Amino acid sequence: MRGTCAVVTGGAGFVGSHLCRRLLAEGYKVICVDNLLTGSRRNITGLGSAGHFRFIPWDVSERVRIDEAVDVVFHLASPASPAAYLRYPLETLTVGSAGTHNTLDLAHEKGARYVLASTSEVYGSPHVHPQTETYWGNVNPIGPRSVYDEAKRFAEALVTAHGTTRGTSTAIARIFNTYGPRMQPTDGRAVPTFVVQALTGQALTITGTGTQTRSLCYVDDLVDGLLRLHSSTTPGPVNLGNPDEITMLDLALLIREAAGSDSPITFTGRPQDDPDLRCPDIRRARAELGWSPTVDLREGMARTISWFRSVHHDASTRPTV
Ligand code: NAD
Repeated sequence: MRGTCAVVTGGAGFVGSHLCRRLLAEGYKVICVDNLLTGSRRNITGLGSAGHFRFIPWDVSERVRIDEAVDVVFHLASPASPAAYLRYPLETLTVGSAGTHNTLDLAHEKGARYVLASTSEVYGSPHVHPQTETYWGNVNPIGPRSVYDEAKRFAEALVTAHGTTRGTSTAIARIFNTYGPRMQPTDGRAVPTFVVQALTGQALTITGTGTQTRSLCYVDDLVDGLLRLHSSTTPGPVNLGNPDEITMLDLALLIREAAGSDSPITFTGRPQDDPDLRCPDIRRARAELGWSPTVDLREGMARTISWFRSVHHDASTRPTV
């Protein structure tokens, strides 16, 4: 792998910073392009020490100039948590459209493979469960979540059209809820919210009754899936997620126990258009990438809690997912 170069947009974010580390460990040269809208320099601190990592502070909704040869573009740049995309609705739509367009052009110019970080949110509030890649989704195009869901749906259409009309080697990953170290403690997602609440002795606030489900994938597993997708020739879309489904109430109980906390559990209002069920069908990832998650929820949560304990023990949050 020495000498091969990967561009990671959104590389200073949660998933992107793990992807950058893994690529460096595999011997890639890595160029991280990020405008730090929701990411942080701290996530990529120290990565430049071996001389194979370069950070370009840049908004990919504008064309980015890269002189080096590039083998793969991973396009992860986008606000991702509900709190973030509701704070930055226009930026979210723009990076999903113009940002995807610009980075596709970059991949085409360089003859590079292109991997889009899409989302399970393209399925909206699904009528098919678990969600297969052939399901078209149920999204409210003018609901509050639409800025994210529709941006990703448009991005998928753009990637597909680029692949068919310009011959760019493209791939679409539909990523389901992912968790792990370096999630932002205040981004409103269930895992960091519950972990911080448990570690600080605050009540764990569940939205709704807690019967809604999510399927949580440890970030190392996801990154492995993204690399396998890059190394394959499949255009996707491919679901990448952990099919072990858990209710929000059970998740809160698991985190409380793993954190050794005696915080109470309380219930608050549910955000509009919050999906009831979320679980990937990963048969395609198994068949085409030989991929399935390996880190079990208790193990992944122990690693995550240990990281939060070391760096973010005094933050406070409110949940939106
Ligand atoms: P994140 O917010 O931690 O990271 C996103 C990064 O993109 C941030 O560093 C942010 O500064 C950067 N960014 C945003 N707009 C940009 C722009 N215009 N130009 C350059 N950089 C920009 O989010 P994450 O959880 O790491 O998600 C990464 C990707 O994976 C996103 O595309 C998201 O939609 C997708 N995804 C994540 C999950 C998950 O559970 N984390 C689930 C499904 C899909």
